[in-house]
Amino acid sequence: MADFTGRKPYIAGNWKMNLDRMTALDLVKTIKGRLGDGDDREVAVFPSFVYLADVVAVAQGSPLGVGAQNLYFEEKGAFTGEVSAPMLRDVGATRVLVGHSERRHIFKEPNDVMGPKVAAALKADLLPILCVGETLEERKAGRTRQVVDKQLKAGLAGLTPEQAHRVTIAYEPVWAIGTGVNATPEQAGEVHAFIRGKLKDLFGIDASQGIRILYGGSVKPDNVKDLMAVEDVDGVLVGGASLKPDLFLPIIEFDR
Ligand code: PEP
Repeated sequence: MADFTGRKPYIAGNWKMNLDRMTALDLVKTIKGRLGDGDDREVAVFPSFVYLADVVAVAQGSPLGVGAQNLYFEEKGAFTGEVSAPMLRDVGATRVLVGHSERRHIFKEPNDVMGPKVAAALKADLLPILCVGETLEERKAGRTRQVVDKQLKAGLAGLTPEQAHRVTIAYEPVWAIGTGVNATPEQAGEVHAFIRGKLKDLFGIDASQGIRILYGGSVKPDNVKDLMAVEDVDGVLVGGASLKPDLFLPIIEFDR
């Protein structure tokens, strides 16, 4: 039986299609210099594919994790423009985002590719963050739970409890991403508790207690503490505020 113990707070920075090479490497150096031994929190950045190898090289020797923002589920072949899980491992990435709302909504990635993506990541020994979350329209229609449930079931399809334990879930309401309007701690807490319950149904109590659930959507230095205080919020996935040291460092260093 796997050891499903404590959930270390996880702070992840999704840089999206931002930062040039020099700025990205400078930011990694700054974060690295402030991380300490990484004992009480886990921090990772998700740069553009093209800078992954350089970011990995600079992060070397520190607990800073480095991951990609997407992957394709096939290992190789005629898939122009795609990047596979073994390729990500080959350049030193150890993590990957799956199903970010921009992939789902701008690039129309269907829900049913998320399971194969998560499985491909795990097979290559990458730690996936599976992103789920409802649009404003879906929330207003009272469909938040239904949407999140469907995304969880598709993304985690076929996994054993041991495999699921290596997945992190990020609840990212689409209406809160890049808008400056974060979910309130109450709104986040309600959906995170729902997700924890679903994980229990799918994988049993022990595994469900070990899986981290991050909140994402307009996280800033002034709201991180309140969000992190919510039961079942085990970390944050940060977009815009992860691009600048004066915003990202206070988030990483939030007072527990
Ligand atoms: C994200 O891209 O995952 C995100 C949460 O963005 P932001 O923090 O800018 O809302």
